[in-house]
Amino acid sequence: MRKKQFLQVSCPRCRNRQIIFSNASYEVKCFKCNYLLSKSTGGRAKVRAPVRGVL
Ligand SMILES: [Zn+2]
Repeated sequence: MRKKQFLQVSCPRCRNRQIIFSNASYEVKCFKCNYLLSKSTGGRAKVRAPVRGVL
């Protein structure tokens, strides 16, 4: 994923929907269950949850 964009993902653990930034340089966790939704790998986020939409 090269473009900077906002993604709507759903947490695989609790189904919570959350907006994350695709180039986040930090870890993004689910607000509800603390599941790690996105992990930074060399400046690019590795999204660990199914993407439901692009904003
Ligand atoms: Zn969750």
